[in-house]
Amino acid sequence: MPNAPKWVLDVVEKILIPKLPLMKVAETALLSPSVKRIRFYGDFKKLNFKPGSYMDIRVSDTEVRRYSAAFSDAKNGIMDFIVHLHGAHPGSDYMKKLNVGDKISTSILKPHKCYNESSKKYVIFGDETSLALACSIFSVFKKNNDEFQFYFELDEENKNVPQLLQLENYTVFAKDGSFGNEKWIQNLPVIQEEKWKDAVFILTGNAKSVQTFRKAIKNNSAAKIISHGYWLKGKKGL
Ligand SMILES: Cc1cc2nc3c(=O)[nH]c(=O)nc-3n(C[C@H](O)[C@H](O)[C@H](O)COP(=O)(O)OP(=O)(O)OC[C@H]3O[C@@H](n4cnc5c(N)ncnc54)[C@H](O)[C@@H]3O)c2cc1C
Repeated sequence: MPNAPKWVLDVVEKILIPKLPLMKVAETALLSPSVKRIRFYGDFKKLNFKPGSYMDIRVSDTEVRRYSAAFSDAKNGIMDFIVHLHGAHPGSDYMKKLNVGDKISTSILKPHKCYNESSKKYVIFGDETSLALACSIFSVFKKNNDEFQFYFELDEENKNVPQLLQLENYTVFAKDGSFGNEKWIQNLPVIQEEKWKDAVFILTGNAKSVQTFRKAIKNNSAAKIISHGYWLKGKKGL
């Protein structure tokens, strides 16, 4: 539900929010002109964080948008968001304005179900909106000694962000429409190399790229695919 009348969101907030912890902005950092990391403090002990977990945040009187927890340390009450400031839109504007000391209400934490301990090999594809998921799953890969490869399609100004986030095994591609071309995707090493034929592919970010990547995998292997478009050109929220 990306939008609803103000009174509906007011009622939901009145009934639900008092039961959920408050999040207070502790730190913010611009990793590029359009990628912001926001660190929150709060009492998150009752939240069950899994890789890719996300929340619905009320970003205006009538709009709600989804954001993932990039990092969580429930014991010490820390949670990070990594947000794409992609333009003058309710979610992007709200995240851009968040500053140290601001308080926001959490929503129920929703699990992504992208990670399963029984699988040991992963390919993760996404864009700026997928960086939080990438960070949350990366720590689990390292802990469990999994094999993994990240593919990111990023704007030129964001190409160094994966390095700033200390991710490993990543390839950055220019956001030039290549991931809208199934034939081009079919030639990528993660599709061609035998090694990745039994990997789990986790595809998020631009819904058009996700859909095309999914088709390319399906036409080339029997690999397991978990896909979730995070935004669709011309559509508000998802
Ligand atoms: C499960 C889930 C987890 C998500 N996690 C994150 C996260 O951790 N960080 C994050 O930044 N985003 C995340 N997103 C994506 C975010 O919710 C969307 O980008 C959302 O549309 C932003 O809201 P907005 O109000 O800024 O733009 P909207 O009002 O929703 O959209 C306005 C216009 O901008 C376009 N648009 C939306 N997002 C982008 C974008 N990133 N780049 C270019 N154009 C865009 C839309 O297609 C539309 O045309 C997540 C989405 C989902 C579903």
